[in-house]
Amino acid sequence: MKAIIFHEQGGIDKLCYEDVRAPVIEPSEVLVRVRVCAVNHLDIRARRDRPEVQPFPHILGSDIAGDVVEVGHGVSDLTVGARVVLSPCIPCGQCADCRNGDENMCDFQEILGFQTNGGYAEYVKVPGQNAMPISPELAYHHAAALPIAYLTAWHMLVIRAEIRPGDDVLILSAGSGIGSASLQIAKLCGARVFATASTEEKL
Ligand SMILES: [Zn+2]
Repeated sequence: MKAIIFHEQGGIDKLCYEDVRAPVIEPSEVLVRVRVCAVNHLDIRARRDRPEVQPFPHILGSDIAGDVVEVGHGVSDLTVGARVVLSPCIPCGQCADCRNGDENMCDFQEILGFQTNGGYAEYVKVPGQNAMPISPELAYHHAAALPIAYLTAWHMLVIRAEIRPGDDVLILSAGSGIGSASLQIAKLCGARVFATASTEEKL
């Protein structure tokens, strides 16, 4: 398959468009044909110098939507052809947080495209539990915009802060992915929203 890969970390010139071997799935995994992969700021830091990045050569890309093209025999709730969005958090499934249903708190989790190969490619593999079907009305590019920015913003504002209609909410760095997601979620919840950004252009 075709993929954007880098063999060593550094500037944007390290990114190469090459032929690589397509992923081979385990029984608990599914193979997804990537339709859209969003660009996240994490990609830049991973390409530059983040020490957690593996494997090498590496394929970036954490926010992915696509079609299931192969299903491991241990996966029972997905079928070939399903349109899916991928959750980038791959928890260990065994620690106390995972057993309590708090997989997002798992200290041993891996992030898709950061500590595994990701979506800057024709195909990506993930555990079956990370692939969630999306409705026919939801476009791939809208689905791929959701995982990191919107889950993080939703968790902060709705789960942790429990914002209510009429609350005053200050969004710092509203030009960022999480900032712009937070702004939309806060308005959806009926809050009065204030925002800051580092430049007029971002505002
Ligand atoms: Zn865990």
